[in-house]
Amino acid sequence: MTPPDMQTQRPRFGTRPRAGLIDRFGRRITYLRLSLTDRCNFRCIYCMTSDTRFARPDRLLSLDELAAVAAAFTDLGVHKIRLTGGEPLMRRGAIELMRRIASLPGLCELVITTNGAQLERLAVPLREAGVRRINISLDSLRPERFRSLTRTGDLAQVLHGIDAAIAAGFERIKLNAVILKGRNHDEILDLARFALAKGINLSFIEEMPFGTIGEHDRAETYYPTDRIREELAAKLSLIPTTETTGGPARYYRIPGSQTRLGLISPRSHNFCNDCNRVRVTAEGRLLLCLGNEHSLDLRALLRAHSGDITCLRNAITAAMGLKPEGCDLGPGIAPIAFRRMSMTGG
Ligand code: SAM
Ligand code: SF4
Repeated sequence: MTPPDMQTQRPRFGTRPRAGLIDRFGRRITYLRLSLTDRCNFRCIYCMTSDTRFARPDRLLSLDELAAVAAAFTDLGVHKIRLTGGEPLMRRGAIELMRRIASLPGLCELVITTNGAQLERLAVPLREAGVRRINISLDSLRPERFRSLTRTGDLAQVLHGIDAAIAAGFERIKLNAVILKGRNHDEILDLARFALAKGINLSFIEEMPFGTIGEHDRAETYYPTDRIREELAAKLSLIPTTETTGGPARYYRIPGSQTRLGLISPRSHNFCNDCNRVRVTAEGRLLLCLGNEHSLDLRALLRAHSGDITCLRNAITAAMGLKPEGCDLGPGIAPIAFRRMSMTGG
């Protein structure tokens, strides 16, 4: 059944402007990360506190508003959209919205990032809705540790979800593992071997300083990807590759396998020069840079000019002038205390 807020007005899509989105530094913006909700069924220790409160439903973009934002960006030359959150599969009406976004002219890739807890049930509907690729977060293969890292998560459920995604035939499934010193750094090789056994990709990610988290000191859990690479290289033959998925990961191939291992190093290796993306939070804030607060309130605009896609496109184009040259998330840099990744659209 079509969710109630999708039965209301449809945005008026105009002809596609030709110039695309280019910022002041000549970078072409072709990739949007769109957050469907800030809610989550997990409470990962590096992402939230155990008592994190979520936004009131009326503060979130409605499904129609999310569809309008996706349409405006694809009109402006964005060809890849990642749906994220919070946990995107917690949003009611998510599958129907995905079907709608997947059919936008000009969109080449609709992809999602999920914690995998609901994939056993939703992998096939997601594929049928037009989602091309899935990233699934997996930080541990030990049930008790998985529970303590996610606070509420059930490892078996996520593993079933991964198998369901493989069976559903998604292209290039990728696992994401955030590595924390003293919490899961001893599982780097186990996680790599798991990905190899499944024939899927895996990226290791450095923990980023977003949000007050309470349980640990991020300076103490910082684990640079150069160390991860050394540990992998001691046991596996890593062949560096220039392949990219349009993101900041450095990839390695393992001879005789389809698996690619990636390293995402926001703290130890700045990658702002090649930035091709912007984010829209679940509350409709267009964030122009991961580590800066330069932003535009698309929700206010959508609600003041309901259904006017030209106005939305013009505002998005103008906002490119606000995109900063880059940010510094290096070790020792003050954290962004109030904006968690679950609010940012990670
Ligand atoms: N809930 C989904 C999930 O966990 O895959 C999607 C949203 S989550 C914010 C997206 C990604 O951000 C996940 O891979 C998660 O591990 C990562 N993440 C969250 N907080 C982070 C942090 N402080 N530093 C680095 N990665 C983080
Ligand atoms: Fe939820 Fe993803 Fe944040 Fe974990 S990382 S708490 S799964 S939003």
